[in-house]
Amino acid sequence: MGSSGGQPVDSPRLIRADGAIDAAGCAVSPAAMLVRQGRVEVVDRPQAIGQVDAVIEQVRGLLLPGLVNAHAHLDLSGQGIWPPAGNDFRGWVGQVRALRARRTAKEVAAAVEQGIGLALAGGTCLIGDIAGDPAAASINALAASPLQGVAWVEVFGLGSGAAAGIQRVEDICGDWPEQFDGIRVGISPHAPYSCDRSIYMAAADTGRPVSTHLAELKPELEFLQSGSGPLRDMLEHDIGVWSAQVEIPGCHPVDHLAEPLGQCAALCAHCNWIEPEHAQRLAQLGVCVVYCPRASRAFGHSPPTLPSHPWQMLSAAGVKVCLGTDSLLCLDTPDRLSVLDEMRLLMVRDGVDPLTLLEMATVHGAEALGWSRASVCLGPECRGVLLLPAAGATPREMLESAIRGDQLPQWILPPSRSISKLS
Ligand SMILES: [Zn+2]
Repeated sequence: MGSSGGQPVDSPRLIRADGAIDAAGCAVSPAAMLVRQGRVEVVDRPQAIGQVDAVIEQVRGLLLPGLVNAHAHLDLSGQGIWPPAGNDFRGWVGQVRALRARRTAKEVAAAVEQGIGLALAGGTCLIGDIAGDPAAASINALAASPLQGVAWVEVFGLGSGAAAGIQRVEDICGDWPEQFDGIRVGISPHAPYSCDRSIYMAAADTGRPVSTHLAELKPELEFLQSGSGPLRDMLEHDIGVWSAQVEIPGCHPVDHLAEPLGQCAALCAHCNWIEPEHAQRLAQLGVCVVYCPRASRAFGHSPPTLPSHPWQMLSAAGVKVCLGTDSLLCLDTPDRLSVLDEMRLLMVRDGVDPLTLLEMATVHGAEALGWSRASVCLGPECRGVLLLPAAGATPREMLESAIRGDQLPQWILPPSRSISKLS
């Protein structure tokens, strides 16, 4: 922890700010936060805390907990930002495959390191990362960083490739314990158009956290329904993984994967293309959904192509919806990887309530990753505290102005390995 005025590093700190807010009901203005031994002891009005023997620091702005990015691809952080893919998903996948094919393991590790730095710069304290190949590059880098969260190791395998995919699931469990230095190691069957359902069943059977891309693409619906369309062309001609053994279920992706997703702690990314009955089904299954608003926009799954993303329908059905960034490649912020920018888009474009956004970006994300709500609320288990410039008469108005701003958050209490998982 930092020191002030030559005080010992473990001296209590009393940090006074214009306000403080979290998703568990803390909302005070002005605010004081007492920190002892690197942990938040209490946040309240200054007069409620009264006189304490602590180093007093005065800061301007709003205190809030560190944020949760529940869907990232840190290994795609080394290339900067690419032009929006629009509807050319096939071309995008081709570019990503070419990038991955020419990289060394050392370059992958460097990209992950860069992503971790950008995530921390964006105010992230918990992350859900899809670990590509080699998975060790992502898992080891995350385990050595102040971030905690889940690394889901990515698996592919369609038709005749399904057996190898199932073997990969077994190898992941053999190679990595489920808990590894503050990181949970899970499995990510990539998507229902690139993975046989048997791989999902094998992943669910491990008892580990599972994440997948689900109902992300409109052509995914066509492919699962009839085996045709642009994804069939991509799988057969670009990637060369089509075989007579590929089973076409003839139904929607949510119905196709309901059984395995209902048997594990599942977090599904995107869910751009679903109907009310699928929202109900996901709620019944206890599946969490991570919405990546800027990625959805970059790939054309936002207005006007899709009238609106169904996250509010999911939420109303009882699904926990959290926020993710997807990869840096499809974002518009080269200096950070932050769900704060997702909150900003949803507030400015869609008029979403700021407290709802805070809930999605903190407690819902923590729960989706299997961490406690308290790990992202202003109390002793809090994994990190941010300061954002803010104006307003109430904590809520300050939160709205903080989200609308465009400055990087500042860590008042950075994430630390000493505050461990408490779920
Ligand atoms: Zn993704």
